[in-house]
Amino acid sequence: MEQAKLLGAYLDAVREMRRGKFTVEWPEIGGDDPVAQLGRELSQLGRWLDQRFEENRRVQAIFTEISGGGFTHEVLERVYDTFHALIPYDRIGCALLTEDQRRLQAWWVRSSHPEKMRLTRGYQAALAGSSLETILATGAPRILNDLETYLQEHPGSISTQLIVAEGIRSSLTCPLVAEGKPVGFLFFSSRKKNTYRDLHQTIFLEIADHLSVLIERSRFCQQIHDLNQQLLRTQHELKEQALRDILTGAFNRGAIMAALAEQLSHARRKGLPLSVIMADIDHFKAINDTHGHLGGDLVLKRVAVTLQGCLRDYDQLGRYGGEEFLLVLGETPLETAQQVAERIRAAVEGLLLEVEGRSVRVTISLGVASLEPVDGDDVTPLVGRADGALYAAKRAGRNRVCLAGPAG
Ligand code: GH3
Ligand code: MG
Ligand code: MG
Repeated sequence: MEQAKLLGAYLDAVREMRRGKFTVEWPEIGGDDPVAQLGRELSQLGRWLDQRFEENRRVQAIFTEISGGGFTHEVLERVYDTFHALIPYDRIGCALLTEDQRRLQAWWVRSSHPEKMRLTRGYQAALAGSSLETILATGAPRILNDLETYLQEHPGSISTQLIVAEGIRSSLTCPLVAEGKPVGFLFFSSRKKNTYRDLHQTIFLEIADHLSVLIERSRFCQQIHDLNQQLLRTQHELKEQALRDILTGAFNRGAIMAALAEQLSHARRKGLPLSVIMADIDHFKAINDTHGHLGGDLVLKRVAVTLQGCLRDYDQLGRYGGEEFLLVLGETPLETAQQVAERIRAAVEGLLLEVEGRSVRVTISLGVASLEPVDGDDVTPLVGRADGALYAAKRAGRNRVCLAGPAG
């Protein structure tokens, strides 16, 4: 082709490239004159631009894919699922610096061979003096394409020992630095030797800032979430504590009365039976007098544990007063409650207690009452009848169960 025609064709091709089409048809170029050389250079430039464009598109797509919120492990799952298009790997690990920036902790890891994993979440190592410290300082990723040889040269490196044992042969170690602050590392690794190229370093550096910020932010999210959970747990515990009697761990009087009111309204709504037991330790004053108040406390605790042991999970035990307990037995008719009371009486009588080397025997009296239609929405008559039955048991000689008569 004559030179003028060739140049015209080149011009057309360059205009095409300006419109974003890089793989244009180039006229056959032979010879070694400057025009032919220019043609070949332009052709190569077109291919190179095409590759770069494609790569940028993939990086952009991955940017979009991995962005968005979530906890650290969610961000990293997204990285693992999408990075294959940019960097080859069989395993990705992420290690983050501890608060004091002195240690590195394996935070997340995922591998194509999870059953072979040796270096797992929680593994920690000091940063000072390690080769990673240099990587973090320079900000440049490091390629190790023959980890077995690296291990021979650095036999003391525990982390290398572990991943070589996993079957890993090459690695690309990428520092994470978010807005100037070191965050940790992302380790890409492959089961094949010689996997990583300069290109992979370059690609990582293109997304390093974005990824680092994303990971750091996700860690904050996690910390806030964890703190919030802890706060909720503490709040729950405090609420629980406020309902409990310190000495016996049973509900306190307010809590057991509230529980009874709730059970009563449930029973009335559903037309179900409800029973309560009022229990009072016999001659407890004498126990205090003989064994001191601390000895008395010990007995109280053991009796409370015994009562709880005689109840079903959904029955409720409260300390009504000094050595008096109120038991609320939901959906339970009088006869069943009587059996429970008898079981409690026998269990307390059978208790083998020892206070400062001396054995103590204790008995308990119990009054049982059940909800009746005339009770209405008020818990007082029901508790009053159980209390009356308790006094009847005391009068009848103690260590026994008495049933309340019908209301009125
Ligand atoms: P009864 O068989 O009639 O119930 O006789 P009692 O001695 O058990 O009854 P009384 O009401 O005379 O005495 C109860 C005692 O319980 C008096 C009180 O000092 C003691 N008490 C109350 N609360 C506690 C406590 O928390 N710890 C100890 N150690 N004693 C307590
Ligand atoms: Mg008593
Ligand atoms: Mg009493």
